[in-house]
Amino acid sequence: MNTWLPFRCLPAIVAACLLFLTGGASAAGLRIVTSFYPIYLATLNVARDIPGVEVINMTRPLTGCLHDYQMTPRDLVTLEKADIFVVNGAGMETFLDKAIQQVPRLKLIQASEGIPLLVTAGVVNPHVWVSVTAHMQQVENIAAGLEQLDPDHADLYRKNARAYLAKLDTLRATMRAGLQNVRTRDIITFHEAFPYFAREFGLTVVAVIEREPGSEPNARELAQAITLVKKTGIKAIFAEPQYSAKAADAIARETGTTVYRLDPVVTGPMAPDAYLTIMKANLQTLEKALDTGYQTKQTSNAE
Ligand SMILES: [Zn+2]
Repeated sequence: MNTWLPFRCLPAIVAACLLFLTGGASAAGLRIVTSFYPIYLATLNVARDIPGVEVINMTRPLTGCLHDYQMTPRDLVTLEKADIFVVNGAGMETFLDKAIQQVPRLKLIQASEGIPLLVTAGVVNPHVWVSVTAHMQQVENIAAGLEQLDPDHADLYRKNARAYLAKLDTLRATMRAGLQNVRTRDIITFHEAFPYFAREFGLTVVAVIEREPGSEPNARELAQAITLVKKTGIKAIFAEPQYSAKAADAIARETGTTVYRLDPVVTGPMAPDAYLTIMKANLQTLEKALDTGYQTKQTSNAE
């Protein structure tokens, strides 16, 4: 009779083993969830190659900025499984209070903490990460937060952060050098994503055509934009790859300007070096649009 016992118990043992393997492994590990793309990239760099530490982005890759984002049931499931939630802060995650209310045990890291914020069009501008310098401060904040919440891996977070900050520092130097002698420093953009970027590199955003991301300007706003572009004499306008370029194309047709794409790093590959790659592409776009070579051409024509 007793010989049957192990067989009868087998399913229970198997179940216990599975529980240990699956549940046990994730309970021993650390799950970090990020709110959206740029914060995911920063956190991925700080927490990369650390055994048992996993970085997951809550929103889908093509979500873009989180203005007026509504949390989905799927997001809530992701947050319920998270140990730490890393957000941009500065008002970007308007759903944050709700998220904390729904998952009160969630430990929070606000990447923009302590960074001086710009106010544009009467509201705090949350696009902090578009400035390389401010993004470096975000990386510091994320590293400090992770070191505090997961002290066992503090040395690894610090080491990773230092390596990534060195890359960002090189990027910033390249961009400063590239944008030092451009012909014009005036830019027209769509959506309020670039004030931090512009301030960092000494560019002036003379107009923003779509204040609300994704909202097409109406006929009156389009006419105003056309008048403005003509008045400024600006030859390049910058649309974003995440939004329709319909309005930009219409303005370009009416004013003889060229539409370029400037990427605020809100969508892209989920790869550690993506921020660097996208910013380097932005630099090339700006160098072309605000062309240094143009100046010599102009001068020689005038002489
Ligand atoms: Zn935005």
